[in-house]
This record gives sequence, structure tokens and C-alpha cells, in this order.
Amino acid sequence: MAECKYPDIIEDIIDGLKSLPGIGKRTAERLALAVLKWKPDKVRHFGEALQSLPEAVTYCPECGNLSQGGKSCDICISASRDRTVVCVVEDFTQIMTIENSACFKGVYHVLGGKLAPLEKKLADALSVELLLKRIQDNEVKEVILALSPDVEGQATAVYVGGLLKDRGVKITRLAQGLPAGSDISYADSATIGAALSGRTEF
Ligand SMILES: [Zn+2]
Repeated sequence: MAECKYPDIIEDIIDGLKSLPGIGKRTAERLALAVLKWKPDKVRHFGEALQSLPEAVTYCPECGNLSQGGKSCDICISASRDRTVVCVVEDFTQIMTIENSACFKGVYHVLGGKLAPLEKKLADALSVELLLKRIQDNEVKEVILALSPDVEGQATAVYVGGLLKDRGVKITRLAQGLPAGSDISYADSATIGAALSGRTEF
């Protein structure tokens, strides 16, 4: 007996959804069929948002956070942020986690990854030149290395910490307390807040 299939367009949507992290075939089916029940206007609006995603979302030229239309991000343009304190993160996903803790009033710098020599992810893939330039241009006083407490995160902290040495800037790192081997993106805001306020000299 032939396998029962949905109309092609629904199968396409199921395929797209099930390629997302944490979404299996059954869940993808359920989600696609739920969208089918939306009002046409809502479906159209959602479709247009998805379609414009690749062009509309850009990266902040200053810090590497997500931004729109090639402009600087909301954090970099905010007059209330302290530009002399820079929190270095691996990825923009961690900025949202730290912002949710409401414990940080400085600015960020996205490295764009961490050192993973075994995966051939080497130092030149990280945005360190721009970080050094920002430190010089903005008279940065403190750099917080908010890197994940796993092997690669710690190797990256040692590497970046080494580059920042002797540049007249205080280097700190998050307090212990984050589960070893974890990713900061998934830490809860209370844990991140405590790790930030208890940060120690690197
Ligand atoms: Zn920015």
C-alpha cells in the first residue's frame, strides 16, 4: 500500500520544520497542520516575515549582535550603556540570556565561535582584531570573558586573555557556578546574574 502523504505544499512545510532543532516528524506535522487552521492573513504575515529574514536581519558592525538593515544594534546605539565595559561572548544567542538577567549595563562583543582545534575552528575565525580596536578606540576599562565553562570555551578564554594582556585593561571572567561543560545560552538568568556580579579577575 502506498504511503499516505499530505499535499506537496504541506509536505514541504513539514520538511522545513523538522529540520529545526528539537522538532521530530510528528511535531512538524502537528505544527504544519496547526498553521493550516490559521486565518489567511496571519499565514501571509508569517510567510512574509520568513521570506524577508535573510536580508532583513544583519549583524551589528560594532559588536556582531543581531541588528536590522546593516545598522548598529540597539545595545550599541543606546546612550545608557557603558562603553568602557565589554562582555565577550561566543555567539549572539548568549547576549539575550545575559540581557534577561538585567545585571549588565556595558556593551558586548561577539567572537563568532570558540577555539576548537580538533574541528579546525582556529583563532583566525574569531573576531579578535575588531575587539582589540574597540578596546583602544573606546578606552575600555574592563573586558569580561563570558565564555562557556567547557574545554573549548576555556581554551578561548586563555587565548583572548593572552591577547588582552598588557593593554591596560582589567580582564575578568564569570564566577564559577555555571554547570561545567554547559552552554551559557541555556543558563537561567538568575545563574547568569550571579556569575556576572561575582566575576573574578582572570
Ligand atoms: Zn552592537
